[in-house]
Amino acid sequence: MLNTNLQNLKGNYLFTDIVNRTKVYQTEHPEAELLRLGVGDVTLPLPQVITDAMHRAVEDLAHAETFRGYGLENGYEWLRRAIIDHDYAPRGIYPEPDEVFISDGAGSDLGNLSELFAEGGQVAILDPSYPAYVDTSRMAGRRIEWLHSTRENGFVPNLPKKRPDIIYLCFPNNPTGTVLTRAQLQRWVDYARENQSIIIYDAAYEAFIEDPNLPHSIYETDGAEEVAIEVRSFSKTAGFTAVRCGYTIVPRETGLHEMWMRRQCTKFNGASYISQRGAEAVYTPEGQVAIRANLAHYKETARLLSQGLRELGYEVYGGENAPYIWCRVPEGYSSWSFFDYLLNHCQIVCTPGAGFGESGEGYVRFSAFSKREDCEKALQRMKNL
Ligand SMILES: *Cc1c(COP(=O)(O)O)cnc(C)c1O
Repeated sequence: MLNTNLQNLKGNYLFTDIVNRTKVYQTEHPEAELLRLGVGDVTLPLPQVITDAMHRAVEDLAHAETFRGYGLENGYEWLRRAIIDHDYAPRGIYPEPDEVFISDGAGSDLGNLSELFAEGGQVAILDPSYPAYVDTSRMAGRRIEWLHSTRENGFVPNLPKKRPDIIYLCFPNNPTGTVLTRAQLQRWVDYARENQSIIIYDAAYEAFIEDPNLPHSIYETDGAEEVAIEVRSFSKTAGFTAVRCGYTIVPRETGLHEMWMRRQCTKFNGASYISQRGAEAVYTPEGQVAIRANLAHYKETARLLSQGLRELGYEVYGGENAPYIWCRVPEGYSSWSFFDYLLNHCQIVCTPGAGFGESGEGYVRFSAFSKREDCEKALQRMKNL
């Protein structure tokens, strides 16, 4: 017997469709200079302080005196302590070192955490959303309540109508660029406590928050340690999409800590020593300077794009405290027809919002991970339309 839940998954054709339409255009217009503004991956190279640390880690493995075999399943304690000292303690949050689980990226944990819950069951997922929560939930045969994020509710969805076992939240949001205030986040935590739901909080874009009043972590709200698991990644923060390293906080108070530890010890033998040494270097003073410079570059691109689009008369959301710009398509267009329009008339590749869910219809996503000069050229081309 096969898992029919997996067989019945809808294909996620978003990125394939984008690639195919772009290829067709390129074949027909080989001279065209395409501007890729849809990029959902980091583009700046890793800072040398990080690659040096990884080179040293490779050398460690080459010599008997420094060689290592398996590490702890939940990661090296030096990295877990660095995470607490830099990412949590300054905000008055003090997880125990064994409540921090080093992973090979947020993607894996966001999927695997689903195994802590019974098959079937009810989940609440933002619409539009990053596809991982949806597909994982479908693989486990869960029923999904969509939490629609629209301009009418300021992209801050209402609480679920039906009590979910799991609530997936992601702020700063991919794709809408929405951020939540502490009070807004507190409502979700209160709801989860009243309804005994677990929040899986995806904070992959936490490093893009600049407003000092916005919470970086769900644990900045009252009682979150009872109901929330926080998933973070070095991918967008420090350019680790190829290196693979992230971390997840599973507080004891959730009652899930032992189960997650048990699960990880059976199915995950830990993140690579080399990746963890690279992640450790992120927290050195030089590492901090270097990643902040890269983040500043992306933040500047976000500012340039959202300001430029606004000046051209577009209705623009996000782009502040977040690397994504959520742009309403002009009257008479759908998100795919506007994608085609930008491709055909400006040679710009964006991401159609409908690919992220029903409520994404009517929008396209632009990304701050795009090249700055491409953004400048794109705005100029759109101006000349
Ligand atoms: C990029 C991204 C991640 C990070 O995934 P990794 O597996 O750590 O590379 C997580 N969540 C969202 C919403 C993302 O866009």
